[in-house]
Amino acid sequence: MTAEELLALDAEHVWHPYAPMPGRVSPLLVTEASGVRLRLSDGRELIDGMSSWWSAIHGYRHPALDAALTEQAGRMSHVMFGGLTHEPAIRLARTLVDITPDGLHHVFLCDSGSVSVEVAIKMCLQYWQSLGHKAKRRLLTWRGGYHGDTFHPMSVCDPEGGMHSLWRGVLPEQLFLPAPPPGFEATIDESYVEQIHATVERHADELAAVIVEPVVQGAGGMRFHHPGYLRALREATEAHGVLLVFDEIATGFGRTGRLFAAEHAGVTPDVLCLGKALTGGYLTMAATLCTQDVARGISKGELPVLAHGPTFMGNPLASAVANASVGLLRDGGWQTDVRRIESALRSGLECAVDVPGVVDVRVLGAIGVVQLDHEVDMAAATRAVTERGVWLRPFRDMLYCMPPYLADNTDIAAITDAMVAAAVVA
Ligand code: PMP
Repeated sequence: MTAEELLALDAEHVWHPYAPMPGRVSPLLVTEASGVRLRLSDGRELIDGMSSWWSAIHGYRHPALDAALTEQAGRMSHVMFGGLTHEPAIRLARTLVDITPDGLHHVFLCDSGSVSVEVAIKMCLQYWQSLGHKAKRRLLTWRGGYHGDTFHPMSVCDPEGGMHSLWRGVLPEQLFLPAPPPGFEATIDESYVEQIHATVERHADELAAVIVEPVVQGAGGMRFHHPGYLRALREATEAHGVLLVFDEIATGFGRTGRLFAAEHAGVTPDVLCLGKALTGGYLTMAATLCTQDVARGISKGELPVLAHGPTFMGNPLASAVANASVGLLRDGGWQTDVRRIESALRSGLECAVDVPGVVDVRVLGAIGVVQLDHEVDMAAATRAVTERGVWLRPFRDMLYCMPPYLADNTDIAAITDAMVAAAVVA
């Protein structure tokens, strides 16, 4: 089929993310991807500044990941996980326990980030049900968050970004703190810390858990905050008998400069969600980890099982490629890459502060953000970046990048130039 025929069929039948149907904007047709580059049907190549929604940390067609996948496909692509098990999933679970903060001991493998948040919430609600605290079924989070598009995760997304008004009466009504004060290196706002303690204490009888994205709030607005607020959450939840969930689906596997963002705070949550970069962006898989206390609590209940079991749970292909992807991180070389990218992003984006309409420029790890005082003109921004050989997908008032760790300094310079050019026209 020609590219024109494919795009006509796409327009006719394919529903794209966050898009109306029929769609209004024709997507770009990708035919291949290799290293940090996407190849389009018209022969153009674009440097991927998005790592395919933050997942392809090692880039595309990585020899080690390709080999892991092919080798596993030669043995078995899938078997059900109920009553059966296999080495790729067992090894992955053990590795995740080893590399995540101390205390997380059990691993529930599932299909996507949103499902891992569903599982995390189910674990927390069931824990308190099992222990006889029937009223503890609400969640507390802070504004500006994003935890996925299925219904329970939506209930803890930022109420405006998550369109809570559209879903009033459908979504469970959760409790919200204001967004954490901005700035990874800003001084701690003691009044916010007090508010954390007071809110957790006041609602402890009805709260099952607090759930937040540590250090970086991603799709809710690309905001960074001081790790001290995570310590405050840990202290408050521990003091008042509430569980703490960290959603590291976006921040996990090195993106913020530490392997897991929780490390910035030196805090272990009771439950941890991982996804996205878990398989190096090759296949959909996520994981929910929990402590022995959470697992033991659940197993004391009338229903001592966690009633969840996706068809493709523990998929061997995804597990094998996840093992290979985590294997690539284990020598620690990613730290040098992320540090190098961080400083290249800082110097490349510095001049964006002078662009009219830019209100903030911020960088943390391999994340660069240029925030405007108005909604991004998507068509103009996309034109500006693709003309410069770069792929970015801005949202709301944000131009941002999360490049693969193997992007070299020339690639990063192209990305930052494209972001500055987009800021001028968008
Ligand atoms: N939590 C966070 C922090 C995320 O960034 C995302 C995805 N952007 C999700 C949950 C949902 O993951 P998925 O899209 O794989 O369902």
